[in-house]
Amino acid sequence: MQKIDMLPDFAEITPSARIATAAHGWRAKCLQRLIRLDLPVPETVALPAATVRAIAAGHPVDVEAILAHFGADALISVRPSPQNPDWGGPGTILNIGMNAARHRALVARHGQAAADALYLRFVQSYATHVARLDPDMFDAAAPSAESLRDALRVYELEMDEPFPEDPARQLAEVLRSMARAWEGTTARLLRAAKGAPEEAALGLVVQEMAQGIGKGVSGSGVIQFVDPVTGLAQVTGRYLGQSQGRDALKRTEAIYLTRDPRGPSLEELAPELFADLLRFGAACRVKLREEMQIEFTIEDGHLSVLDAVKVARSARAGLKIAVALAEDGVITEAEAVLRVEPRALSELLHPQVDPRGARDVFVRGIAASPGAATGRIVFSSQAAQASAARGEPCILVRRETAPEDIRGMHSAVGVLTERGGMTSHAAVIGRGLGLPCIVGASDLKLDAKDRKLIAPDGRVFREGDIITVDGTTGEALAGAAEMLAPALDDSFRKLLGWADQYRDIGIRANADTPQDAATARQFAAQGIGLCRTEHMFFEDDRLVVMREMIFADSAKDRAAALTRLLPMQREDFVQLFDIMQGLPVCIRLFDPPLHEFLPHSREGLRELAEALDKPLSEVTRRAEALAEFNPMLGMRGVRLGVVLPEIYDMQAQAIFEATVEVGRRGAAVVPEIMIPLVSARREVELVKTRVDAVAAKVRTKAGADFAYKLGVMVETPRAALRAGEIAQHAAFLSFGTNDLTQMTYGLSRDDAGRFMNTYVQQGVFPEDPFHILDVDGVGELLHIGADRGRKTRGDLVLSICGEHGGNPESIAFCRKAGFDYVSCSPYRVPLARLAAAHLAL
Ligand code: PEP
Ligand code: MG
Repeated sequence: MQKIDMLPDFAEITPSARIATAAHGWRAKCLQRLIRLDLPVPETVALPAATVRAIAAGHPVDVEAILAHFGADALISVRPSPQNPDWGGPGTILNIGMNAARHRALVARHGQAAADALYLRFVQSYATHVARLDPDMFDAAAPSAESLRDALRVYELEMDEPFPEDPARQLAEVLRSMARAWEGTTARLLRAAKGAPEEAALGLVVQEMAQGIGKGVSGSGVIQFVDPVTGLAQVTGRYLGQSQGRDALKRTEAIYLTRDPRGPSLEELAPELFADLLRFGAACRVKLREEMQIEFTIEDGHLSVLDAVKVARSARAGLKIAVALAEDGVITEAEAVLRVEPRALSELLHPQVDPRGARDVFVRGIAASPGAATGRIVFSSQAAQASAARGEPCILVRRETAPEDIRGMHSAVGVLTERGGMTSHAAVIGRGLGLPCIVGASDLKLDAKDRKLIAPDGRVFREGDIITVDGTTGEALAGAAEMLAPALDDSFRKLLGWADQYRDIGIRANADTPQDAATARQFAAQGIGLCRTEHMFFEDDRLVVMREMIFADSAKDRAAALTRLLPMQREDFVQLFDIMQGLPVCIRLFDPPLHEFLPHSREGLRELAEALDKPLSEVTRRAEALAEFNPMLGMRGVRLGVVLPEIYDMQAQAIFEATVEVGRRGAAVVPEIMIPLVSARREVELVKTRVDAVAAKVRTKAGADFAYKLGVMVETPRAALRAGEIAQHAAFLSFGTNDLTQMTYGLSRDDAGRFMNTYVQQGVFPEDPFHILDVDGVGELLHIGADRGRKTRGDLVLSICGEHGGNPESIAFCRKAGFDYVSCSPYRVPLARLAAAHLAL
């Protein structure tokens, strides 16, 4: 059996070490496995990272020792072999060793044209990648004896020396240039963006060329056994006769491997070789436990496998492939779970433009990353970050993106670029982030200075205008398009079902409306962790009654308004309980300052005066009286519950009556009632006394019994510090990290966006703490609150329900701190389930 030859050290090049290690990089390891599977891999030598580093540092390498592994007339290639395939690396160089003598030999064997084409190709790639000459000077229209002579002449003119003839010199220079390219700033930035560590190392693989030219069946191609977009089993790939490298992928005359309507496919041309390829693919799938793309060459009917790489895949395909491998017993279910990045799920979950709606397409480009998003146009990454800090979805529009745009891309909901292709920066990063993205919309005229873009039909769009990026079709639409919720297939559900078996922290959803609750159920949330009841009062008919309640002169009038709100609230809760079918529902009592419900314009106040049949002056006076200097720290949350207890009484009654009603129909409901913005034990005592009294009244009146739980939201620093005594009256504590972050930093949730960008850029905060939980400060309060609460009550249920609840980092924190569950927005539930499983595995 053939073995791969490893060169362990640049100084001590011996063929004795024959096991590829991590130091030789993923490609060397992969080739070794292919050889072990008896795949016909040409002679290969691998250089470990230490050798490549030494070459980059200028140490000489004994290239003669490397060349000794190959035949005297062999041409060879050098390919990058970093530790992780995602980290890229310098481009492959083919046909090293080509010179006048070998050219003559090739002319004799394959004819003048084929020999000229090979030689020209080598001169071009050597001149541009090794000698770093301008590619334009070597851009011959078509290979010919003349263009070859031209290329050799230009090289000599530019370099003041003839093109190197000595294969040893050629190889030494190729190795040096590839080793140095890896150390360059651009390469470092690019791989850092893909998560490579600073010390990421490169190995190199030197391999004998199998020529795809010859009299019999000859050519090269790639084959893969799944569809890279859907992940479904399907042979795809390309083959091109009389070609080498990955030519078949670039040229339109390349043929399909199976069923080509334009003529014979490879399967028809060479059925036995095609069958061999299928066999190789199946062997790789089982033994390498992965769907591989195989690069092959056929020389006079002799098949060689040059390389195999993981099939590049969309997030959807990645999930499908992982599930299929586990179903076939190739990998375990746990491995399948671990193979899917939680953040990649967002691509599957992204809304799509509803094909039935109107489509006002203003430009077309390349559909680079699927899903659709609507937002306001921004032309810079800074503007994107500022927009995200304000909570306004934005579309980042750029000529093209570069690594320094990463933060801007993180902040945008979609990306549109004038330049680029499927593998350009915006496309690669967009797919990685699951961000809808269109690239190469070259008909756009982008004027970043005047912050406008001109569509091919002359329409002008300016910063702030709303557009929709449809990354699935590659079309940019004017305005906000109608969206379709994403479709979730069996593989998706299966994988998350497996994830649920491993995870050890609960995942609930923040859901205020029946629609939210339905989404939460669809994503298998284990209950509702936060229902913000005030959102139920903003609807038109309720808003009027709500305002009547706010303007009531006396307790009696207030009670009358509340009586009218009661059935509406009860109906809300009945719906939530019905949808959640016995799963826990945690309802937060009224939280915002009352002033938020009043109109803010004079016109609005006039309408209100009319509706309430009160003089405008009186309505205005009352509205002014309710206004606060600092409403987020004013009459809100439990403070309203203490000062105007009738509101909480009404809500408790609605909750309990809904509990009885739904309980009578079937599933027993145990509602959880949560008190917001608590800072003192006495607040909890006061509310608890009244809620207990309401429960007793409802029980008597309905002649039915029910249980409920009362808990406290910990969202002031004092509540965290005094959690020990607060827990005396609370069955659960839920950390509201939005307000807790606001109050811990003394940083307004609503205004911090104005300077957050500067703060993050200057390194004051590593991240926006409203986005990523501040584990040092806010996290310490969470630890204190949890510890003190649990000391009082061993069975205290702990959770987090701020926006941080859906971030994998926050989930890791909460799990480590022993929390029972996290609660996040419904669309983040799948990500949270998978992230939690990753933590437990
Ligand atoms: C919080 O403060 O973290 C919270 C969940 O409540 P809200 O965002 O409604 O203030
Ligand atoms: Mg809050």
